[in-house]
Amino acid sequence: MSMITTENCHRGVFSIDDPLPGYAFPTTVSCEPLSDRLWTATDGIYRTIFAEGDEGIVAFDTFWSPAAAASYRTALTRVLPDREIHTVVYSHDHLDHTGFASDFAPEASTVLAHEETARVIEARGSDGQTVPTTTWSGERARVKVDGIEFELINPGPTHGSGNAAAWFPEAGVLFMVDTVIPGVSYTFAPDWHLNRYLGSMRRLEELDWDRFVPGHFWPMDRKGFGENLSFYERMGEVARQALADGVDPDHYASVDAYARERLTGEFGRLFRFGEYIGMNLMRFMAHEVTGGWGLEDADGDSKSTLGPATEVTL
Ligand SMILES: [Zn+2]
Repeated sequence: MSMITTENCHRGVFSIDDPLPGYAFPTTVSCEPLSDRLWTATDGIYRTIFAEGDEGIVAFDTFWSPAAAASYRTALTRVLPDREIHTVVYSHDHLDHTGFASDFAPEASTVLAHEETARVIEARGSDGQTVPTTTWSGERARVKVDGIEFELINPGPTHGSGNAAAWFPEAGVLFMVDTVIPGVSYTFAPDWHLNRYLGSMRRLEELDWDRFVPGHFWPMDRKGFGENLSFYERMGEVARQALADGVDPDHYASVDAYARERLTGEFGRLFRFGEYIGMNLMRFMAHEVTGGWGLEDADGDSKSTLGPATEVTL
């Protein structure tokens, strides 16, 4: 593949003409086996998975920039040389995870995503984000492709649009991006659907798995997954208490001070607590005072158990 430069790279949704050095900067991706056919790849910040089929490769997501997508490809093809990446599966719509299939695997004949994800991607028209060729709908799909079987599960609104977990029962692995991540939430929890988040995520605890592979940082066990959800539960309570106590939700210094005073004892050891706890609380308070954002938050509930899966053969 040709070298990605600041001048010629795919440009996402940037509408400026200037070079984009941030998009042309490669990252170092390393791979580790999760089972005999399933792998995880990470550059330390971003993480994804890929699987070895009978003939080729099924890879999830594309990393965060054109150059990072190329780095992901390099790492993957070193582990599984001479195999075509025939299928790319998108976790959700965000460009920093799925924006650059054009750089990662332009030869992929199938790009699979949930229909809600595909709708956003098609409407967005981002440069480098390949529009899905195949979609699935509803809650669960059992995917069979090239000798590999897994389930895609959209447990309800969580983060982004159509966000789907991938479950590999034989490997005991559940992979899901930008939902449960080690530590506190990322900055102000962008595009999180907080009304439905906990109910949707708790449904994934019904499934049989031992290792949770997130879209950032390192894998977790079931206990860590549950504790992370409990943090969000507690954050909602503290946000309501802060409003009841008269903390101004628009005054960051006050929100940050309140968060540190109330939460350091319980959660101060959590990864990135120091950087983000004030922003986390401000986001949860904004949710309480506005009532949530969009139909995803208002429409229906995610409290019932998961239904049966439909079959998708690629
Ligand atoms: Zn995201």
